[in-house]
Amino acid sequence: MGVENGQNGHAAHGNQDDGSDTAAVNTRKSVIGLIPVAKDYAWGIRGMDSRVARYALESKAIDEVDPDCPYAELWIGTHPKGPSKLKTGEYLRDAIGEDLPFLFKVLSAGKALSIQAHPDKENAKRLNIEDPVNYGDANHKPEMAIALTPFEAMCGFRRLEEISYLIKKHPEFAACISEEAKLAVFLAQEPLAQRDALQKLFSSFMTCDPEVSSHQLNLLLIRLQAEQSQLHPHPHDEPAWERKCARAVLRLAQQFHGDPGAMAPLFLNYLLIAPGESFFMAANEPHAYVAGEIIECMACSDNVVRAGLTPKFKDVDNLVNMLTYSMGGPSIDAGAYMAESTDVIRYTPPCPEFEVMVLTIEPGHKLTYKNPKIPAVLIILEGSGHLDGKLCRPGRSYYWPPDADDLEFFVEQCRRGPMKVAMAHKNRHLDRPTAVNRDDFGGTSSHRISVPASPMPFLGMGGGRSPSSNYQKRFARDFEENDNAAIPEL
Ligand SMILES: [Zn+2]
Repeated sequence: MGVENGQNGHAAHGNQDDGSDTAAVNTRKSVIGLIPVAKDYAWGIRGMDSRVARYALESKAIDEVDPDCPYAELWIGTHPKGPSKLKTGEYLRDAIGEDLPFLFKVLSAGKALSIQAHPDKENAKRLNIEDPVNYGDANHKPEMAIALTPFEAMCGFRRLEEISYLIKKHPEFAACISEEAKLAVFLAQEPLAQRDALQKLFSSFMTCDPEVSSHQLNLLLIRLQAEQSQLHPHPHDEPAWERKCARAVLRLAQQFHGDPGAMAPLFLNYLLIAPGESFFMAANEPHAYVAGEIIECMACSDNVVRAGLTPKFKDVDNLVNMLTYSMGGPSIDAGAYMAESTDVIRYTPPCPEFEVMVLTIEPGHKLTYKNPKIPAVLIILEGSGHLDGKLCRPGRSYYWPPDADDLEFFVEQCRRGPMKVAMAHKNRHLDRPTAVNRDDFGGTSSHRISVPASPMPFLGMGGGRSPSSNYQKRFARDFEENDNAAIPEL
């Protein structure tokens, strides 16, 4: 592609932007207010504590917030299961003339989402033909999550050495796995043999007789609870990652009574990322979001193959067969600055459908953003300010037509903090991704920071120019020192 995006700077644009709706402002072709769709899945955060609820209210996706109702997802896009409308009453799809290639979301997770993976294009087509009720889309669904709060997730398989160690450490987990699979895990050396062992292990665990796995889960919980409540004379005998893993099992079991999926932290990486950090999930990678709030962008599809931690339809056979069985966690991506501006950070996945820009406009500053000449959608994340003279508040979202003028953001000096805006459009930097595929793990790309997700999320952090590295360091320290408070109350 190689097209450089807009020159983003503080340069005023010759427009008398005094924040009021002057005639000059009105002649500009600007953004159009957009009404997203809110989803009330059971795992959502309840009432006004949910960012999704607050944004949905502000953008008029809902008329009021029910304090007892979960508000899980806000959808901005043209997907038929939740198509956005414009304030003019027109559907976004009709205004663009075609579907957006991506779906842009805000998520507020109060408890874990199911263990899931998304099919690649080939699998998606097959599933859609074989089972159109459960798999309504024939498209793949690579997805990227950018944290708005500290965010916990399980993502990708642990390295085989860790799993092997955890099998030996937790006999209850070992009892849910066949002798053949265990032997394969203990003996595998070569990468291919390791993949094979991992598939055997996952398949064996997922197809374990539910009576056996429920019973073993109970035994495991009783033992872990006893260990947690005992006053250890040497509390730091056990490495922090193992304690976190044990606590994650206890917490998931509390949320999903009797679901052996609560043992997933024993074979999936458990990570905690800080606001501004993101990770990319390629197709066919197992993951489960656990708690926190994020923006998420994905190829336009709603296909999910689920295998646990859910009352919804589970499809273990398909999941076991489609996973890639790569090991180690995803790279944590803190984005890259756009051009010479430090006001715009781009998060670019290695897939053509989408990328996400996060704009930060400090009080007293102006930002002119050149129209990328492709359909874009944006949402105000934090702070108040002006967009082409219109007042904007957190939660308001907009469609930016390709033929509109450049955007003028402005935040008055008197505001307490910056205005943050997230924007999504088709990927214009496919040749320079900031996020990488799992297969690229261990690459030597020097401009990105790469954080191994397991066993300790924040060890081995490289230097490099990272927009959130200061926050990361601070957060990493808090995380280390206050081991019992991995995540603030939501
Ligand atoms: Zn997912």
